[in-house]
Amino acid sequence: MSRATSATIHLGALRDNLARARELGGGARIMAVVKADGYGHGLERVARAFAAADAFGVACIADGQRLRAAGVRQRIVVLSGIDEPADIAEMHRLDLESAVHHAAQIDWLAADRDRRPLRVWLKLDSGMHRLGFAPSHARKAYERLRSLPNVDPAIALMTHFANSDVFDDAQTPAQAGVFDATFAGIDGERTLANSAAVLGWRDARADWIRPGGLLYGISVVAGRVGADFGFRPAMTFASKLVAINRIAKGEAIGYAATWRCPEDMDIGVVQVGYGDGYPRSAAAGTPVRVAGVDVPLVGRVSMDLITIDLRTAPGARVGDRVVLWGDALPVERIAAHAGTIGYELTCGMTRRVRFLEDER
Ligand SMILES: *Cc1c(COP(=O)(O)O)cnc(C)c1O
Repeated sequence: MSRATSATIHLGALRDNLARARELGGGARIMAVVKADGYGHGLERVARAFAAADAFGVACIADGQRLRAAGVRQRIVVLSGIDEPADIAEMHRLDLESAVHHAAQIDWLAADRDRRPLRVWLKLDSGMHRLGFAPSHARKAYERLRSLPNVDPAIALMTHFANSDVFDDAQTPAQAGVFDATFAGIDGERTLANSAAVLGWRDARADWIRPGGLLYGISVVAGRVGADFGFRPAMTFASKLVAINRIAKGEAIGYAATWRCPEDMDIGVVQVGYGDGYPRSAAAGTPVRVAGVDVPLVGRVSMDLITIDLRTAPGARVGDRVVLWGDALPVERIAAHAGTIGYELTCGMTRRVRFLEDER
């Protein structure tokens, strides 16, 4: 038998989440961000569920190629743009659009002999300091792009927030202010908002919103889960209980003996580990759902197995289904126990996990 570990992707939740994002977008168009294989949910699968999206945002040309091969007709924006001159021809071939965040990219466009106009999204670094032109250089970059015959004159304008998940932080309005000031008087579609900004910064919605996480039902707002904002988890990660062992008081559980039984007790063993994408950093106390209750993880997460404290789940039986995250157990809660965010967990599912889908 193969391993019991599975990730079920809920297509209904993906669709509902897109509709909810549209509602919160207040008339803005939606660029559904599907990088990293749709945040680990499966690129083609999520694209199918997001058929009502106005565009897709991907991390690389190869993702655009997969979407076109899957029959996606919407606009597709490669969020980091062309990486080398040969990418321009590939963008044309696949009808992709390119972010332009660096002068080298404009140099490649200027040197390209293909006269077909490429659609571009000019990216401003308004304060995150990752990708984008500095405010002092952005207008010049815009003018250069406008002067190129092989750049579509309808240049879209883009920036990305660093801290929009903190709803009372001054950085987001400051970044939006830099964006507005830099591009004042320039025509063009504007896009600023990632998921957290859609939730917390209504003024930043502009022409296009670019949600990723929320479409999968995941929030990065501290202490809040997607459901708090009307979104549904789109992945249920589950496995089964493969052993229940009675362990004596004082005995240690697992590698490095990090946890000791405070009394004689039942320890459950679940067929999941970091080899499947369950985070090794998950601390003792991380909730695991079995027999209708949340019980705490105890001891170290190993490659194939985890151990759980069954004292509060007397009804648990070998063979029972165990939920690691999903509907009743938001991935954001597991992430908090593992010192990360939900995105990293769903992105980290490994190849041996069986992917299933349902209409829920
Ligand atoms: C990843 C990404 C997004 C989506 O961010 P979420 O927090 O998942 O909504 C939007 N824009 C850009 C440029 C991104 O890289």
